[in-house]
Amino acid sequence: MGKPDAKQYSLTILVNDCIAFDAGCLGFISPLTIQERVQHVVLSHAHLDHIASLPIFLDNVFQTRSDCPIVYGSDATCHALRTHLFNDVLWPDLIRLSKEESPFLEMQTIRPGESIEIEGLSIEAVALDHAIPTLGYIISDQNSVIGICCDTQPTFEFWERLNRHSKVNAVFVESSFPNSMKSLAEKTHHLTPDDLRCELDKIEHPEAQIVAIHLKPAFYDSIVQDLETLNHPRIAVGKPNRVYSF
Ligand SMILES: [Zn+2]
Ligand SMILES: [Zn+2]
Repeated sequence: MGKPDAKQYSLTILVNDCIAFDAGCLGFISPLTIQERVQHVVLSHAHLDHIASLPIFLDNVFQTRSDCPIVYGSDATCHALRTHLFNDVLWPDLIRLSKEESPFLEMQTIRPGESIEIEGLSIEAVALDHAIPTLGYIISDQNSVIGICCDTQPTFEFWERLNRHSKVNAVFVESSFPNSMKSLAEKTHHLTPDDLRCELDKIEHPEAQIVAIHLKPAFYDSIVQDLETLNHPRIAVGKPNRVYSF
């Protein structure tokens, strides 16, 4: 408990090596060959801990491939990237440059309720309840179904959509603040371990493994302690750099 390497400072989840969900730390993953395999970046929302390294990643892989990564996000997320990030102030306008030079990226809008097919996976976007428009994702192939539910306060539609599947292998759910910081969790539209326990009552798949992720590093030990106090056999604390197979 509390080991430095157990803390996650920003969020990226790689699926099948070629799809990155969020780009918090994607551009900092070493060796570079891991980044080069990523063809698709699917964003939940525009908060910095989920997009911080996107410009770095796009720069890192630009010289090394003839095609370019496709970046998916909601209308709100794409608008935020255009307005606040690729604006020739914080970073060059890679969207404009991609029309003039070899493309750095292609942007694709994904709407809540929409499903897209990428690399043999079906990826369904579901609106979560966060401070800004945020999408959770349900990822499935013929064998497995997993969910990524981050960032959100207590939410409903995500679980309802998940329950439509005949089975669910695992759900990665945020648990940002300790129970003692419930008030700040509410103000910032996040979950505590107690909230996470209540969310579990909404899922009708007793087989689903619940992986708590996105624990704020400053409160990591308290959040882990709260999660362990739940003593719930299906809830595990997510381990950065770990490979999960379903
Ligand atoms: Zn957020
Ligand atoms: Zn976040």
